Amino acid sequence: MGEAMGSGRIGFPGEYDDEHHPFGSVTPPIIQSSNFVFDSYEALAACYGGTSDAPMYSRTDNPTVRMLERKLAILEGGDDALAVGSGMAAIASSILAFTKTGGRIVAIRHSYYDASRLFQVMMQRFGVDTVFVDPFDQAALEIALDGASVFYLESPSSFTFETYDIPALAAQARAAGAITIFDNSFASPLRQNPLAHGIDIVIHSMSKYLCGHSDVVAGCIVSRQALIEQIRQTVSPFVGAKLSALEAWLVMRGLRTLGPRLEAHERAAEALCDMLLDHPAVTDVRRPGVSAPLPPEMSGAGGLLTIDVADDVDVVAFSNALRVFRLGVSWGGFESLALPAKVTARDSDAALADRRLSLSHRSIRLFAGLEGSEMQIRDLKRALLAGMAGP
Ligand SMILES: *Cc1c(COP(=O)(O)O)cnc(C)c1O
Repeated sequence: MGEAMGSGRIGFPGEYDDEHHPFGSVTPPIIQSSNFVFDSYEALAACYGGTSDAPMYSRTDNPTVRMLERKLAILEGGDDALAVGSGMAAIASSILAFTKTGGRIVAIRHSYYDASRLFQVMMQRFGVDTVFVDPFDQAALEIALDGASVFYLESPSSFTFETYDIPALAAQARAAGAITIFDNSFASPLRQNPLAHGIDIVIHSMSKYLCGHSDVVAGCIVSRQALIEQIRQTVSPFVGAKLSALEAWLVMRGLRTLGPRLEAHERAAEALCDMLLDHPAVTDVRRPGVSAPLPPEMSGAGGLLTIDVADDVDVVAFSNALRVFRLGVSWGGFESLALPAKVTARDSDAALADRRLSLSHRSIRLFAGLEGSEMQIRDLKRALLAGMAGP
């Protein structure tokens, strides 16, 4: 039955495409139905047989979710896409489809925290080992990739915003026979398309830029047809992490303003960088295009940056003095956010400490929201002064 459900095609009933919604509606319909019925035995059989792509049950296929999937495939330049309940569901589904007991995952050392925990805690239980590498260390990478099933990477990387040579890494992994899974949440499909540079699978946390309003947790997987089919048939129906129609609709609403929102986040982040680079209480600013040149694959650096504050800045006093910047995880919505690395140091585990080598308790991740540069700059300057005054 797995094979029959949800044929691979991006096809979508004509009346639901963007130009032709029912009743001339300018927004897509929300098909809030778990189930779909058939007029005849033959129509139901065609669905089971895979010769019809009519939706059957929303755990595998919902017309509103399908519409979002088609847009995501186009945006990332893939053949097809799967929309799931979170960024982590996208990562876990891809990993589960391409690993087996005895296999090895190679991941960059600055991977998203919960992704690294998925590899180390959960996949370890199923006999899959993970090796974390510094992708700048060619020799270590070469050894780790030999016999690996999956190479998992982000560029820019979590918290440190290092950027890597994507075409070279993709080619190296392919030569070693590993499937590349790339978290493109930081760049968004408008600033970087890893599939065009040899990456096999792109995932996004759509909870961030793609939705853009901090009101949805969602994820997606984009790839060529055969790999999407493998995930769709060997993982998706059984893990059941499908996105809901309403949330797919909210992400589609967010996608319409992704371009102007990204431009505004980037202008705000640039203004912050200009101020912070000259500030005596700031010793380091990490952002693609600032700490290292913007790589040719990227057409913009987004709204995130990490600063290191000087020794005489009390991180707790700084954090508590912030008003416009709110303290919190995530990013990609309206509000500016600050996340001190100090507060995220949940793991004393030596491997994780090593993985986070270039971070310290003086590192603070900032997200430039849409409140306006003047307010954001004034807020940070005031909080840095408060931090220098101490606890
Ligand atoms: C938030 C995030 C994730 C996880 O996404 P969820 O939607 O929260 O599950 C994965 N990767 C990156 C880079 C993220 O920022």
